[in-house]
Amino acid sequence: MKILIVGSGGREHALAWKIAQSPLVKKIFCAPGNPGIAEVAECVDIEAENIEGLYNFAMKQKIDLTVVGPEDALVAGIVDKFRGGHLQIFGPSKRAATIEGSKVFAKTLMRKHGIPTADFRVFEDMKQAKKHVTTCGFPLVIKADGLAKGKGVFICKTLDEANKHLEDIMKERIFAHAGDKVVIEEFLSGEEVSILAVTDGNAIFPLSSVQDHKAVYDGDKGPNTGGMGAYSPVPLITTELQFSIEENILVPVIHAMKQENRPYKGVIYAGLIITNAGPKVLEFNARFGDPETQVLLMRMKSDLVPLLLSTVKDKLEDAEVEWNDCASVCVVMASGGYPDKYKKGLPISGLETIKELGNVQVFHAGTSMKDGKITTGGGRVLGVTAVGENIQDAQRAAYGAIQRLSFEGAHYRRDIGAKAINQIH
Ligand code: AMP
Repeated sequence: MKILIVGSGGREHALAWKIAQSPLVKKIFCAPGNPGIAEVAECVDIEAENIEGLYNFAMKQKIDLTVVGPEDALVAGIVDKFRGGHLQIFGPSKRAATIEGSKVFAKTLMRKHGIPTADFRVFEDMKQAKKHVTTCGFPLVIKADGLAKGKGVFICKTLDEANKHLEDIMKERIFAHAGDKVVIEEFLSGEEVSILAVTDGNAIFPLSSVQDHKAVYDGDKGPNTGGMGAYSPVPLITTELQFSIEENILVPVIHAMKQENRPYKGVIYAGLIITNAGPKVLEFNARFGDPETQVLLMRMKSDLVPLLLSTVKDKLEDAEVEWNDCASVCVVMASGGYPDKYKKGLPISGLETIKELGNVQVFHAGTSMKDGKITTGGGRVLGVTAVGENIQDAQRAAYGAIQRLSFEGAHYRRDIGAKAINQIH
């Protein structure tokens, strides 16, 4: 089989790494890819948003299966375009990807179909939104409706903060059209957990639990990022809790999408918060998480390709997934200054020394090639991902590997996995 992976981050590197191990696969292309991905796939210089270019490439190369990483391409309709040309592609249609593309849509769907989520109201008019927040308790949460590269959510502790964010979104239009509407919702407290599931629109195949770490600094301090690390499995998610999440959230959302005439196929990612009143949904994403995919795929024993293929062919009921009996931790090394401004093009040293470690993979998230040398090329640079018998072992291995890697200004959280270890002890 010939496979095309769309995207250029750590998630896509993990997908390429896993897919390259499949005996079913002869050739992998990745568009646009990165220097890490280039070790297992041929990188093609087409941007992930260039749907026409990707389609023409897939047609010409007779690609058997395309796997899409980033949400923008899904929300822009890459799956519809490929299916229209009878090309097999893993991911939801444009109408189905709206579950990530519009928070107003997702929240309204949840309310209509009784899926547990924070109480909320939607506003299109700033004055009315401002009036509403004077009647709310604090903290409260303000969310821009559309895609905002993970930056469209604000936890507001005071009325002043809420007013400022409403002005930024609705008057200054910092997110342009993505801020035409806002969701104002109740603040929920509890542990955050992600559950990803593969679905063909009928059968649902939940994957193991993961916890992401969005805040930039230890102890969940500082501004949110794309994700500074993840671990899996999450000890808080007992078998009973996993079952209740499937029964009360995953199965209902897939049925709801079918009823709304937006049949959902691909990965559905439920970002959850485990409150005293049970699990509630913070958001749905229409794709594999980043860096959640890195830890999940490091733990997956079975071949990923049959799972992807059976989803595309509506035969997920027959699929099977085996997990290695291990835990995994991914620690993101980020550029100095990230998530604000940072330098690019700084040489990275130590990458070759990781290859001798059997239990560690370094997934490239934002790297470039300069004069034959690998340099930094993004905010999140490397996802140092390790497996171990338990979270503590995996954590030790990941942080051990980090000691071998360096670039000017590199920073990373020192507490990825710590919450899991505290939950066990
Ligand atoms: P979202 O993109 O909706 O998942 O929001 C990003 C992050 O904001 C989440 O991972 C949470 O940490 C936080 N968040 C979002 N909604 C809420 C809420 N209702 N209560 C508390 N925290 C929230």
